[in-house]
Amino acid sequence: MHSFKPPKPEMFEGKRTTEEVDSFVFHVKSYVSMMEIPAENQIQFLGTFMKGKALTWWLNAIKPFDNGKSLGFEHAISMIINQYRPKMAKELAEKKLRGLQMNKSYQKYEEAFFELVQNIEDMGLVEQMRYFKNGLEQSYQFEINRTKFTTDDNAKKFSEMRAICSALATASNQSSVRTIKSSGEPMDIDTLEIGYKTPTKIATLISRMPKPELTREEREDCLKNHLCLGCKTKKHKGGWRKCFAYINSLGPEFKPIVDHLKDFPKRH
Ligand SMILES: [Zn+2]
Repeated sequence: MHSFKPPKPEMFEGKRTTEEVDSFVFHVKSYVSMMEIPAENQIQFLGTFMKGKALTWWLNAIKPFDNGKSLGFEHAISMIINQYRPKMAKELAEKKLRGLQMNKSYQKYEEAFFELVQNIEDMGLVEQMRYFKNGLEQSYQFEINRTKFTTDDNAKKFSEMRAICSALATASNQSSVRTIKSSGEPMDIDTLEIGYKTPTKIATLISRMPKPELTREEREDCLKNHLCLGCKTKKHKGGWRKCFAYINSLGPEFKPIVDHLKDFPKRH
């Protein structure tokens, strides 16, 4: 029997102060050793003292270690320190930020970016924007470079920048998802590129285009004979989303798409 029971560690919510992290680590370590928690339960035990953001981070962090089964206690402690203790966290975050690249999902990139940046308190907005832009996919960078920002206020500029990226991401998601669903054909490169080779305004407009209303027979007929679902005459690259006849039939709101496509004839 233990004659002395250490106090239970307080829940850790992920506050990024040296005191908070050191205190949590100290108490957790003491508790584990004094209560003689068996090695195979230590990681799970540690997890029960995390909550909120810290818990979310923790559950992700232990995934690569077979959800903690192949993670040692000391290693786990150093992961917490690296993540939350300001000086360590800052150095590590800076290193990661330098190597951070957008990889397919813009949303994931944005999340990862701000997760890292909050560990680097002294990083100014100008520097943040530079890192942010450098990690983006080329096409996103291209779009940002050609944008004339309406403000000199850096915070506003940054949010405009992010709005552009979100619009690009949304446009390319919607168009590719709908293309698969509506036509059942494999996506072609051209469709995938809609989101970013095209100016944001046009890309957004394209993503708002209603899909052709066809009866099931008409649809099957078009697919069988390789016809465009929009004009039902011939199949063209880019399908109905780039079909002039179809776009024109949708009304003047969508005319800018045709104007844009006419400037890039080889893409239709
Ligand atoms: Zn057509």
